[in-house]
Amino acid sequence: MTETSLPKGRNSIDQDQFLTILSREEAMARFEAALFPRELSIEQRKLAETLGCTLARDIFSPIDVPPFDRSNVDGFAVRSTDLASAAEFAPVQLTLNEEVIACGTAPTHPVLPKTATPIATGGPIPRGADAVVMVEHTQLLGVRAIEVRRAASPGQFVSFAGSDIARGEALLRAGTAIGSREIGMLAACGIAEVPVARSVRVAVISTGDELVQPGEALRPAAIYDSNGAIVAAAIDENGGNAVFWGAVPDDEQQLEATMQRALAESDMVVLSGGTSKGAGDVTHRIIARLGQPGIICHGVALKPGKPLCLAVCKDKPVVILPGFPTSAMFTFHDMIVPILRRMAALPPRADATVTAKVPVRIASELGRTEFVMVSLVDGADGLIAYPSGKGSGAITSFSQADGFLRIDALADQMPAGSEAEVTLFTPHVRVPDLVIVGSHCTGLDLVTAPLAHAGLTVRSIAVGSLGGLAAAKRGECDLAPIHLLDDKTGTYNTPFLSAGLELVPGWRRMQGIVFKKGDQRFEGLSAEQAVRAAIADPSCIMVNRNHGAGTRILIDRLLGEARPDGYWNQPRSHNAVAAAVAQGRADWGMTIAPVARASDLGFIPFAEEHYDFAVVTARKHRPAVQAFLSALASHQTRAALESAGFRPA
Ligand code: AMP
Ligand code: MG
Repeated sequence: MTETSLPKGRNSIDQDQFLTILSREEAMARFEAALFPRELSIEQRKLAETLGCTLARDIFSPIDVPPFDRSNVDGFAVRSTDLASAAEFAPVQLTLNEEVIACGTAPTHPVLPKTATPIATGGPIPRGADAVVMVEHTQLLGVRAIEVRRAASPGQFVSFAGSDIARGEALLRAGTAIGSREIGMLAACGIAEVPVARSVRVAVISTGDELVQPGEALRPAAIYDSNGAIVAAAIDENGGNAVFWGAVPDDEQQLEATMQRALAESDMVVLSGGTSKGAGDVTHRIIARLGQPGIICHGVALKPGKPLCLAVCKDKPVVILPGFPTSAMFTFHDMIVPILRRMAALPPRADATVTAKVPVRIASELGRTEFVMVSLVDGADGLIAYPSGKGSGAITSFSQADGFLRIDALADQMPAGSEAEVTLFTPHVRVPDLVIVGSHCTGLDLVTAPLAHAGLTVRSIAVGSLGGLAAAKRGECDLAPIHLLDDKTGTYNTPFLSAGLELVPGWRRMQGIVFKKGDQRFEGLSAEQAVRAAIADPSCIMVNRNHGAGTRILIDRLLGEARPDGYWNQPRSHNAVAAAVAQGRADWGMTIAPVARASDLGFIPFAEEHYDFAVVTARKHRPAVQAFLSALASHQTRAALESAGFRPA
């Protein structure tokens, strides 16, 4: 089926645009113009072989279903007017006609006035009859007559011809995914051959010397190839048929050979990686040799995802996704899925977007379309989208994220309270049973483990104590873990509660100074002495914490006005502090005892923090909250917390 021929000018791509970064919209427009309209490849398939295929054309019913007026019950075909006066104390007698209409039997006798014909469920209504009475509502009088004691309305227990589907009525529309239901509908209409879209064969290639396939041993400095697997699966989820060609080293000849073969054998090629400065020129050169018109755009004003490269070679799309897994997924879902679905004759994915409210302001770079990973939780009135893992290229940030939202290139922020459209990675929202928003602690995993094993989904979003309290006040979470010291009263947490929140004690955790075991500058000192010694030694480098962290308040107390070397290194977690000291990038920092112990570092206790839970009273009755509270109080959890180095309250 050819829609039209190629649009004019698609082979005359202006060379200058290669040097220009295009906006997302301009890049999409040029890519689509270079690919569509295009011939849709259709095949006729036997009905039984169409499961999971996409219907390529609208299908209209060739017959009426049912094809005749049909009885819905076992009983007698009658003329309803004969029974108009029938009642419990005024039975009407009807003479039985000389035939029984079974399923598949065409009637031969008309139903004349004052007669009835026995009929089975599914039998065709004979001429003259306009209703059926159920056998249960009649009484036999000998063998040739029945007595009826209730009236029948015209059409009673009759399915009229074409009442399911009328001849010529649209049965299924092009673009429908064929499932068992659709197969049943087609069968009911007698359709044995179905026009389906030929699946789009997509070659998936990873590039990079550092890539190792899952299942193989990880060499030093190597990483597992996650893009290959995730891109291939996402292609299959969107009507494509992915063929993984493996990871190719950063070698121009090898890469070109693979891309040439992949292009010849596929309808589309999706490569990831190799987009950084020097490597980008290599792929650029290869694509120029793959076929016309070549590169449509190289560099799109996206954040992240700027190195995205879109090309068309021999009329097939060739896409180079950024190497960072999250960037690869943002650009794939946002810009490649629509192209793939259109090639596969699938309609735009309506089930892959939801609207959600953004609870906090999200800053954004002006001039670039920005993608922000979000976690979805149930709010008081609709879904809430929490930004998570912003700017991180880590594949692990997918575990707490449901999808992403897009901030327009012309906006420098998305204000708190905005309604945003969220593109889901997997098209069903899994709103968690328990939502924890606040300060993160490794002890939390020990409390939520039994919930997860019991089948409850837990979402924990680390935004710090104050952020958690704000979320709890807005009713966006079930509980907020907090560790806030009130300077005036010298007490933890309680002074920060407001109406609607109640404090459930969690555990105590010792904050202290960490240093490499055996470092004589710190061994045997108190925390105050250790910090004084560190400040006095100009070769001593510290690692700080981010502003707003409970730990930072303690560090500031010890430092006073001093700003030693390393002060501006401000990671956001206890573990990052321990890693900096363990790896020799810093000599001292402050972290919690269990983390210091896990990293085998020297530890000087400083202050015991109270890590408690601000529980939203209105949500306390929820089963998942109850499960959390009983897990917290259980012997097993308390023992697990203790052996990890915490002191349960
Ligand atoms: P590149 O575009 O090749 O410069 O890659 C950018 C970053 O993404 C580097 O940190 C790569 O190691 C990483 N990367 C590239 N390809 C993959 C892949 N297939 N799986 C996981 N990470 C990748
Ligand atoms: Mg690379």
